[in-house]
Amino acid sequence: MIPAAFEYKRPMSLEEAISHLAELGYDARVLAGGQSLIPAMRYRLAQPSVLVDINKLPNLGYMHEENGMLRMGALVRDTDVEFNEQIQRKYHLISDVSRVVADPIVRFRGTVVGSLCHNDPSGDWAAAAIAARAQMVIQGKNGPRVEAIDQFLVDSFATSIGEGEMAVEARFPMPNSLTSGAYEKIERKVGDYATAAAAVQIELNPDGTIKEAGIGITAVAHMALRVAEGENLLRGQKPSLELIRAAAEEARKIADPNPDARGSAEYKKDMARVLVGRGLIKALRRLNVVVA
Ligand SMILES: Cc1cc2nc3c(=O)[nH]c(=O)nc-3n(C[C@H](O)[C@H](O)[C@H](O)COP(=O)(O)OP(=O)(O)OC[C@H]3O[C@@H](n4cnc5c(N)ncnc54)[C@H](O)[C@@H]3O)c2cc1C
Repeated sequence: MIPAAFEYKRPMSLEEAISHLAELGYDARVLAGGQSLIPAMRYRLAQPSVLVDINKLPNLGYMHEENGMLRMGALVRDTDVEFNEQIQRKYHLISDVSRVVADPIVRFRGTVVGSLCHNDPSGDWAAAAIAARAQMVIQGKNGPRVEAIDQFLVDSFATSIGEGEMAVEARFPMPNSLTSGAYEKIERKVGDYATAAAAVQIELNPDGTIKEAGIGITAVAHMALRVAEGENLLRGQKPSLELIRAAAEEARKIADPNPDARGSAEYKKDMARVLVGRGLIKALRRLNVVVA
């Protein structure tokens, strides 16, 4: 399929990119890795009149820790994350996700920030960002603003990015030595979108009780969801199988999937439950806590 005609801009600075976006409004779309936008244009599901290609912008491929946050620029590709030793060692949830998004070819071009901006209801990064309590930095003509991920992810394929703005960074809170996470995804074959998936992150208190819990599920509703009731059940409690079962059940309750070739609605709801349970057990095991 051939996309509809469009104009192409390749700014060399962030200011220039913002200025194009401000001038062109919603007619313009940012082009990052192109792994979702280009297929959508080829199927004419998206017909922007102008593409603002951000790939030549300097200084957006950074990934470093600062002020308690891992800061990831808008040009960090999935593979940059996947093969980063610090991520593998310390950011268990992010590392898990980076290995199962699509296939290596897509991961080579696709960006984490682009995926969050796309906000596909089956996207892997949105669930992870919810569980990790990520933040997004959005830049417009009036400068940058920071938004919590729950405010940023608005609806299917919709975010809080306004006219004339772009996302410049995703921020993930730095885990301490009592924090771990996991991502559990089932897919029909390697490289497919999830049939269902769950992201979890747990922080323990020194006494072994759960200080903070994050649970995000994806592919089982109109967008990735926070399992807030499950998080509430976990907070302050000592990990046990019974507790995990109860928290995971909250995922089944809020999942509201469509039946399709990947499975029935009931199956997907139950998989959300199973995957949250598995994720919690794996995250705890990574903290040397074995629940029985
Ligand atoms: C074969 C295939 C399989 C896939 N499988 C999966 C999968 O299993 N899991 C999964 O999560 N995804 C999957 N994807 C989708 C893909 O991983 C991501 O959606 C994609 O990489 C998004 O990042 P990008 O940089 O390519 O964004 P683009 O395609 O360039 O952009 C996507 C959208 O986000 C906007 N955008 C991008 N960057 C910014 C920015 N900085 N500021 C504002 N708006 C921006 C664009 O304007 C566009 O609307 C798959 C894609 C393909 C082609």
